[in-house]
Amino acid sequence: MNIYLFMNWKMNNTSSQAFSLLEKYTGLLESTSTGLVFSVFPPFPYLFPMFDAASQGFVGGKIKFGAQNVFHEPFGAYTGEVSPPMLAGVCEYALVGHSERRLNNNESNASINKKIHLIINNYITPVLCIGEGLEAYNSGQVDAFLEDQIKAACDGLKNMPVNKFIIAYEPAWAIGSGLTPPPEIINRRAFLIKSVVSKLGLMAGNSDCPVLYGGSVNSINAKSFLELDYLDGLLIGQASLDVTQISPIIDQAVSLINNSE
Ligand code: PEP
Repeated sequence: MNIYLFMNWKMNNTSSQAFSLLEKYTGLLESTSTGLVFSVFPPFPYLFPMFDAASQGFVGGKIKFGAQNVFHEPFGAYTGEVSPPMLAGVCEYALVGHSERRLNNNESNASINKKIHLIINNYITPVLCIGEGLEAYNSGQVDAFLEDQIKAACDGLKNMPVNKFIIAYEPAWAIGSGLTPPPEIINRRAFLIKSVVSKLGLMAGNSDCPVLYGGSVNSINAKSFLELDYLDGLLIGQASLDVTQISPIIDQAVSLINNSE
């Protein structure tokens, strides 16, 4: 059994604060089991030095790295952008379609779709973020909304490499708000997402697509989500900056992995 714990640091921390946090994570992960997939998504300036430090055995040995965003073209006159080919070999994962980017940067389904193609072509695993806003939530049309988001983001994709595609279910209204859907609703949505991925034939051999939940996860509510049948892990924002929040969440994940063996 794998449990994914993904830390989205967003645009937080100075370089020394970020390295100190990475060092604390490293200590927490020292005696963890192999089923725990732990990844940090730092701001871009910290990504390469952190990857180097981890490769040289200083900090972050068991930590995989991910990008918070990528651009949808490989190279060219795009001032300030960073593309998947520049991250290949350093990033295992790349977030795509995060609701903050959909909202603040007008990210469209068309550009999200181009990003996913480019991410996969560069041997990085996309972590597609989907989730309803309050409008879809109040209208009771969440299932259809999520299915449409997946279809639009994954247009033209079929038979992706096994286990090389992850979906994070993150209701926009739950991010940073202190609110979450009840665990049983998250379980239902995770089941729906896996069914849509399977119906669209996205994964090679119809293999399982890992689904994560994100939105106001903390050390108190994490266990009720980690225990869900159809959920494979968590994408954590604010709480990922606080090692006292992450420590018990790692413990809970490890004990679930150990009990499943
Ligand atoms: C996120 O932005 O991906 C997220 C899950 O944020 P938070 O945990 O702060 O709600």
